[in-house]
Amino acid sequence: MEKLQLLYQGKAKKVYQSDDESLCIVDYSDAATAFNGVKKGTIENKGAINNQLSNYFMKIIEAKGIPTHLVQEISERETLVRKLKIIPLEVIVRNIVAGSLSKRIGIEEGFELKNPVVEFCYKEDSLNDPMLNISHITTLEIATKEEIDLITEYSLKINEILKEELIKNNIILVDYKLEFGKDKDGKIYLADEISPDTCRFWDKDTRKKLDKDRFRRDLGQVEDAYIEVKSRIMNK
Ligand code: 5GP
Repeated sequence: MEKLQLLYQGKAKKVYQSDDESLCIVDYSDAATAFNGVKKGTIENKGAINNQLSNYFMKIIEAKGIPTHLVQEISERETLVRKLKIIPLEVIVRNIVAGSLSKRIGIEEGFELKNPVVEFCYKEDSLNDPMLNISHITTLEIATKEEIDLITEYSLKINEILKEELIKNNIILVDYKLEFGKDKDGKIYLADEISPDTCRFWDKDTRKKLDKDRFRRDLGQVEDAYIEVKSRIMNK
């Protein structure tokens, strides 16, 4: 597969057209940003780790009946994926209070939610990804009610799949962000990535943070945390 023109440049990855019209190549870099690009840095080997971890999770999710964009990993940092029109929503699922929810509702990080909470944010950096409700989403025609219902069902099923996989490795899934896309027939697929960049992972016993919060909050041992997650999950 050959990389043709650059279709999209994200903060940590690039998406290229492949020589098959219906497929793209995602190229993961070590670039790290936080707070909507205000904090910038590099996390050594992050691109390769996120690419491989994300594909590992996507394969498990696909096997449980949820369509994903994954076609084939083609190198350490590159993956062939379906070409989709990304729905401009960040779907956030939370099991434990952390990050922006802790700030918004004034509950300390670590409070266990009775049920998972699902949030939708409008994926628009210039607006700082504001939260939307279902009424905004349907009225502004970002997605239909049926699409949102399916996305919610997929996101909660993915929660069960990931929690089960992670707890086997003594990792708690605190929260995470998903993105979905549609193919030309309107079928919805899980897209983007599932990695320590997009999830909060805590060690079950020590509650040590094993994710991008180490970079966001200058906690040190950032590279080590990414390596630790990958080796616990993939090198069994
Ligand atoms: P929070 O809303 O607490 O900042 O984030 C909730 C969860 O969603 C965290 O796991 C965080 O990593 C993820 N998340 C939220 N917004 C973004 C984003 O714009 N980019 C990435 N990579 N992850 C996000």
